[in-house]
Amino acid sequence: MKRLIIFKRLIIFLILVPLWAAQARQTADGFSVSEVPDSVFRLMTGRSYKKGCPVARKDLRYVQVLHYNAAGRELQGEIVCHKDIADDLVEIFRELHRSRYPIERIRLIDRYGADDTRSMKANNSSAFNYRVVAGTKVLSNHSYGKAIDINPLYNPFVKRNGKVEPAEARRYANRTARFKYKITRGDLCCRLFKQHGFTWGGDWRYSKDYQHFEKK
Ligand SMILES: [Zn+2]
Repeated sequence: MKRLIIFKRLIIFLILVPLWAAQARQTADGFSVSEVPDSVFRLMTGRSYKKGCPVARKDLRYVQVLHYNAAGRELQGEIVCHKDIADDLVEIFRELHRSRYPIERIRLIDRYGADDTRSMKANNSSAFNYRVVAGTKVLSNHSYGKAIDINPLYNPFVKRNGKVEPAEARRYANRTARFKYKITRGDLCCRLFKQHGFTWGGDWRYSKDYQHFEKK
C-alpha cells in the first residue's frame, strides 16, 4: 500500500515538473500571453474598460514583451489586446526585440488614466482602449483591442485639416525630417505588422496616423 502511495506521488511529480517548467519558460524570456489577470482587470475597470465596451474580458489578452529604447536599454512591456492578435504581437515584438528596434515605453494606457493624449505625450505604445477616434464619435479599433499605436509622440496622427494629435508632436508631422523613433513605410516595424496582416495609418489617403496599426 505504501509503495502504491509513493508510486502515485512520483507520477504526480513527473506530470507537474514539466508543467512548472513550461510556465517558467513562458515568462523567463520576457514574452508571454495570458488571460487578463484580476489585478490588471481591476486597473482597467472604469479606465480603458468602461461600461458599454464592445469586447468581453474573456476575448482580451494580457501580453508581456521585451523591447529596447533608443538608448539601448532593455525594458519589459505590457499590452492588453484582442485574443485574435495576441500571437501576432508576440511574434512581431520578438523580431523587433531581436533587431533592437527602438520603442520608448509599452505600458498599459490605464497607467495614464486611459487618457490617449497623456499616453501619446509620454510616447507610450498601447493597444486596447475603449474610446472614440479623437475628435469624432466613431468607435476606434482600439476599442476592440485590434489596433496598436507605436511611439506615438514621434508618429502623430495628422488630420486632414492639418491638426496634429498630440499637439506637442507638431514638428514630427514633417516626415522628411530625421529624428529617432520615426516609423517609415520601409522600416522593420512597418514591414512586420504588414506581414502579419495589419494595415498602417501612414498609408491612409487623407488623414495620416503614423503610429497606428490595425487588423480587422
Ligand atoms: Zn491608433
